[in-house]
Amino acid sequence: MPRPIQAVIHIDAVRHNLAQISRIVSPSLVWAVVKADAYGHGIERVFPALAEAGGIALLDFADAIKLRERGWQKPILLLEGFFQPQDLALIDHYQLSTAVHSDWQLKAIEDASFIHPLNVYLKLNSGMNRLGFSPASYLNALQRLKIVPQVHNITLMSHFSDADLTAGIHQQMSRIALFSSLNLPHCLANSAAALWEPDTRGDEVRCGIILYGASPSGNYADIAEFALKPAMTLRSEIIAVHHIAAGDTVGYGSRFTADKPMRVATIACGYADGYPRHAPDGTPVWIAGQRCPLAGRISMDMLTVDISECPAADIGTPAELWGKYLPVDEVAMHAGTIGYELLTALAARVPVVTTE
Ligand SMILES: *Cc1c(COP(=O)(O)O)cnc(C)c1O
Repeated sequence: MPRPIQAVIHIDAVRHNLAQISRIVSPSLVWAVVKADAYGHGIERVFPALAEAGGIALLDFADAIKLRERGWQKPILLLEGFFQPQDLALIDHYQLSTAVHSDWQLKAIEDASFIHPLNVYLKLNSGMNRLGFSPASYLNALQRLKIVPQVHNITLMSHFSDADLTAGIHQQMSRIALFSSLNLPHCLANSAAALWEPDTRGDEVRCGIILYGASPSGNYADIAEFALKPAMTLRSEIIAVHHIAAGDTVGYGSRFTADKPMRVATIACGYADGYPRHAPDGTPVWIAGQRCPLAGRISMDMLTVDISECPAADIGTPAELWGKYLPVDEVAMHAGTIGYELLTALAARVPVVTTE
């Protein structure tokens, strides 16, 4: 028997989420963002669910090439652009669309020769201060690109820092509006903006986290109305049960102390599987149809849960760490992080299965 831990990737959930998103943002085109190996779900696994996407957005050439080899003929967008001038040969060969955010990239494009038309996402730094040309230098960058004969479509791309927060998008949108008279297609919105800021949708949106059924804000309640489905379930089993007395402690550092006689279950899942080590006591684990509170520090390979209120739980009972019944956002919130981090941190040692 293998160790009972398993990640289940729900392919149909990804397909469903993509259809939901497309309906919500229609008529904007949807880029399916699959960086970080499809947010931990596996690019090759989710690929069959992406057929209706307008394009696929990612970071690595190796992934882009894999998709072309799997027969993906629609656009592929390199979100960080290319990393050295030689990469332009790959961009041309595989007909990839690329972000352009820096002067050296403009120069590389000016100096290169292309067989195919090149589609550029010219990145405007509208306030995130991570990638892109400042508003003051944007027009010049655009003019340089426009006179390169092989440059075909130029899209204005920008990225929001606060689309899920009260600060919102308004300051950045006012900088983006400086360029509205250019009539460039716009590609601005991530998941948060696409859901909550309709004015940002423009021609194309770039959605990652909601494709996988988790919330851009980190709070599952914020996306409940959109009926998205979790695309990953991390599950394991109870491998031991202990009856402990008031005053007994559980696990490393004796972090948890029982205040009454309790039943404690040990589950085969630890931080080396991708479960957050800093999850505090009380973080929910879904067992036998209910939430049971974590009790004691997460070990490398195991975690411990108070099952005193869950008489049905025993050795061999399945436990869902997150997924279909327990939103990853809920676990992440307890652990002081976001669903993105938990999903992308799923460890390589966890066996993965896919279901429709
Ligand atoms: C990751 C990323 C996205 C997708 O972000 P989500 O919040 O997961 O939707 C969009 N655009 C860029 C540039 C990104 O790097």
